[in-house]
Amino acid sequence: MKIDRITCRVVDFPLDREFHPAWARGRNQPNLLMVLIEVDTDDGLTGIGAAHAGLEAAVTIERFVAPYFIGQDPMHVESLVPVLRDTEILGAPVYCMETTLWDIVGKAAGLPVARLWGGYSDRVIAYCATAEVRSPAQRVEDVKRMLDEGYRAVKFRFHLPDPLEDLKVVEAVRAAVGDRIEIMVDANQAGVEPGHGGHRAWGFAMALTIARELQRMRVRWLEEPLPRHDYDGLRRLRDRLDTLPIAGGEDNHGLHEFKLLIDRGCYDILQPDALLSEGVGQMRKVAALAEVAGLEVAPHTWGNGIGLLANLHLAAAIPPRSAERMDRRGARPDAPRAARDRRRGLCSGARTSGLRDRARRGAHRALHSEHAYDHRRRLIPAPPELEDDATRFDADTHHFHGVARVPERAATLQLELPTVPRARQHGRFLVDLH
Ligand SMILES: [Mg+2]
Repeated sequence: MKIDRITCRVVDFPLDREFHPAWARGRNQPNLLMVLIEVDTDDGLTGIGAAHAGLEAAVTIERFVAPYFIGQDPMHVESLVPVLRDTEILGAPVYCMETTLWDIVGKAAGLPVARLWGGYSDRVIAYCATAEVRSPAQRVEDVKRMLDEGYRAVKFRFHLPDPLEDLKVVEAVRAAVGDRIEIMVDANQAGVEPGHGGHRAWGFAMALTIARELQRMRVRWLEEPLPRHDYDGLRRLRDRLDTLPIAGGEDNHGLHEFKLLIDRGCYDILQPDALLSEGVGQMRKVAALAEVAGLEVAPHTWGNGIGLLANLHLAAAIPPRSAERMDRRGARPDAPRAARDRRRGLCSGARTSGLRDRARRGAHRALHSEHAYDHRRRLIPAPPELEDDATRFDADTHHFHGVARVPERAATLQLELPTVPRARQHGRFLVDLH
C-alpha cells in the first residue's frame, strides 16, 4: 500500500455567540479553525485526521510532510514518525498527521485502533471543564445543572487579576454541593497568553499560595500553574504539596520533552494532546514512561471532534487502574458551539482529558469534555442498558474515521491547498523538496 495523495482543507466554523476564553482575556473568539486532512492510498483507503490550527498547519503539511509521505507505505507508521518530528524544526507542529496513518491501519485491519493497541477499557468518566470566567454564584448554578446532567467532576479557570478572588468559586461550589462533585483548576500559565497582555502571570509564590488553598479544599488537580519550561519551578512546587496533584503538558512537545518532564519530576499528571504535542501513537510511549514512573496520563483535547476521537482511542488503549467511563449528557455551560459543526460532529471544540486517581485516593479514570456533549452523544452513542451517568466508548464501531467528514457546507471559509501530485500538475507546488 502506498500513499498517493494528501489533501488539506482549512475549515472555519463560526461560533453561535461571543466566546471569551479565560486564557486570553480581552479576546472575543469568533470561530474555530481546523484543517481536515485526508490521506488517500493506492488501494482506495483514506486516512482522516485534523489539525487544531489554520493555514499554517496546511502549509506545513504541504511543504514538509507530503513530499516525504507520498509513495510511502502508511502502515509503516514508525518509519514516518521522524518526518513529523523534523517538521517542527521549520514548520508548525503537525503531529496530527499520525492520526491519519493509524486510521488507515485500523481500516486495513478491520479493527478499531484502540483494539489494535490492546484496548484496555471502553468506558471513561466525563468531567465538565469550563472555559470562561464566571462569578461564584453563576458557577454554583452551573454546577447544580452539571450534577443534574450526570457530571461528577468539573474544571474551573483561574484568571482574575487577583487569583485569590478565583478561590471564591471553589469555596462557593464546595459550600453549595460539598463533595458531590470533583473540582479541578486550570491556571493556563504554560503558554504565552499571560505575557501578551492576557491574564495575570502567577509566578512561583502565587502558584504555591493558590495550590495550598486548593489542596485545603480537596481539589483534584491544579493544571499548568507555571510556564511549561519552568522545570525547576514545577518540581519545587510539586515537592511542597502533599495531596494536590500538578497537571500539565498540553503545551509541551515531543516524546523527548515528555521524558524530560518525567525525569525532572514536573507533574503528577501528564496531558499530551494527539493534535498538538505528540502523535497519538507516540503518546502510548509517553504513557509507558509515565506508567513506570508512577504518573498518570490524561490526554488533552481541544478544537475538533476528530482530535477528540483520537484521544479517546488512546485513553481506551492505555492501562488504567480501573474502568473508564464517559458522561454522555449535558452541555458545557459557557462556551458557544460551532453552529454548523453541531450537526456534523467535526469541530466540537471538545477538550478531553483522562485522569486516574492516585492509588491512595482510590482508583478511577475520567475523561472530560469541555464543550457541548451533543457532539459526543452523536460521536459516541451510549447503549441504553448502561447506567445513567456512564457512556460506553464503543471501540468496536468507532474507528478514527467514525466521524462525519463532510465539512464543505459547514465552513464559511474553505481553502484547499494543492497536494503534491496535483501541485506538480498545476505548477503550484510551493516548494519542491525532492
Ligand atoms: Mg489546560
